[in-house]
Amino acid sequence: MDPIKDTTDNLDALVEDLVAGRRRFHELKALSAEDAATVRRRTLAKMKDASLEHIGSFSLDAERAATRHCENFMGVAQIPMGITGPIPILGEHVDEDEDIYVPLATTEGALIASISRGCRALREAGGAVVRVDDVGMTRAPVFRTGGVEETRRFTRWVTEHEAEIRAVVEGTSRFLKLENIRPQSFGSSVYLRFTFSSGDAMGMNMATIACDRAVHELIEPETGVTCVALSGNFCVDKKPSAINFLEGRGKRVFAEVVLDGNTLRQCLKSSASSMLEVQYRKNMLGSIAAGAMGFNAHYANVLAAFFIATGQDLAQVAEGAMGVTCVEARGPEGIFFSVFMPDLPLGAVGGGTVLETQREALEVLGITPRADNPGWASMRMAEILGATVLAGELSLMAAFTSGDLARAHERLGRGKERL
Ligand code: ADP
Repeated sequence: MDPIKDTTDNLDALVEDLVAGRRRFHELKALSAEDAATVRRRTLAKMKDASLEHIGSFSLDAERAATRHCENFMGVAQIPMGITGPIPILGEHVDEDEDIYVPLATTEGALIASISRGCRALREAGGAVVRVDDVGMTRAPVFRTGGVEETRRFTRWVTEHEAEIRAVVEGTSRFLKLENIRPQSFGSSVYLRFTFSSGDAMGMNMATIACDRAVHELIEPETGVTCVALSGNFCVDKKPSAINFLEGRGKRVFAEVVLDGNTLRQCLKSSASSMLEVQYRKNMLGSIAAGAMGFNAHYANVLAAFFIATGQDLAQVAEGAMGVTCVEARGPEGIFFSVFMPDLPLGAVGGGTVLETQREALEVLGITPRADNPGWASMRMAEILGATVLAGELSLMAAFTSGDLARAHERLGRGKERL
C-alpha cells in the first residue's frame, strides 16, 4: 500500500480507493484521526447516497477517540441529555444537605419527567437512604484438566499458592487488590472466579490484565493445566446470571424510602393499597410468570441513561438491570419502598469517563477521584445512581396505579408537550 500524504487532494483519491474497494476503512493510519474520519464519512456518503453531516459534527478529541475508544472512527452518535433532581440522599459519600442533580442521556420521552417526579417524592419524604457494598470486579478463566483427580490437585495448588498469585496480580496495578478466588468445577473444566477491588475504576480491563499475567506467568507453568479461555463466562460479564445475583459484582446497592399517604397522593397520584397491588401482580407474580431475573419495573431505563451520560460500559446494563423492588405497608396509608441492585459495575475513571461530555456530567455530579481515598468517587457514583433508580422506580410504579403511563408517553414521548 502506498504511503498516504496528509493533503486534502489525497483525501479525494483515498475516497475513490475506498469506494472502489482498493483500500479498507482501517487502512488510513497515516492520516490524522479527523482526516481519516472525513474520508470514511465521504466514502459512505458516496457509496450509500447518505448525508453524514451530523455524525461528522463533534467537539471531542478525535485522536483520543480513535486510538482509545473506537476503531474506524468516523464521528459521533448524539444522544439528548437532560437533568433531574435535586435528589436528597442519606448516604455515606454525599452530604445530607447537598443538592444533587443528575445528568441523564436518553431518547425515551417521559423518562426524565418521571424520574423528576420521583425525586420530588423523595424530597417530600426527607431523602433516600442508600448503602453500597464494594463487592469487586470478577474475571473467571476456564481451565481444562484430565478429570476430577487432576481438578482436585489443581484447585488445591491454587489454594496453597494464593499468596504468590496475589503478588502477581497486585503487581499489575497499585489500585488492584485481590479479594478472593472462588473455584467451580465439573467434568474436566475448572473455573477460577477472581474477585478484585479496583479503586475508582470499574475494573474489567484491570482484572483481565491481572488474570492474564497470573495464568500465563504462574498458574499454567506451575500446574501444567491449560487455560482454555481467560473469560470462562463464570465471571459473569454483560449477561444476567444467578451467581452475580447471589454473590454480587461491581457495586451492590440498596436504596429505600418511607412515604406517607400525603406524599403518595400529592406527588404520585397514588395510594399505599394500589402501589402494593401493582407491586404484587407486576413485579412479583408477573416476573415469576415470565421467569425474569429482574423483579423490578425498569432499572434498565435509568441505568442506560446514567451510563451513557457518565461514560460507563453500556453493555453492563444487561447485568445491572437485575434486582428486586420491595413495597411494604407502613401504617394505614404509608409504604416502605426499596430497590436492590446486586450487580452494578461502574467506575469514575477509565473507559468512557474521559470523554469530554461525560467528564462534564461527572463534574455536575461532584464525582472526582480523591488521591487520598481511591474508591470514594465510585462509591459516591453508586449511591447517586441508587437514589436515581429509586426515584425512577417509584414514579413508574405510581404511574401504573393511576393509569398515567400511556398518557405520559403520548404527551411527552410523542412531542405533544415540551418540558
Ligand atoms: P477498567 O479496568 O475499569 O476497565 P481502564 O482499563 O481504563 O478501565 O483502567 C483504569 C485505569 O485507571 C488503570 O490504568 C488505573 O491505574 C487508572 N487509575 C487512575 N486512578 C485510579 C483510581 N483512583 N482508581 C482506580 N484506577 C485508577
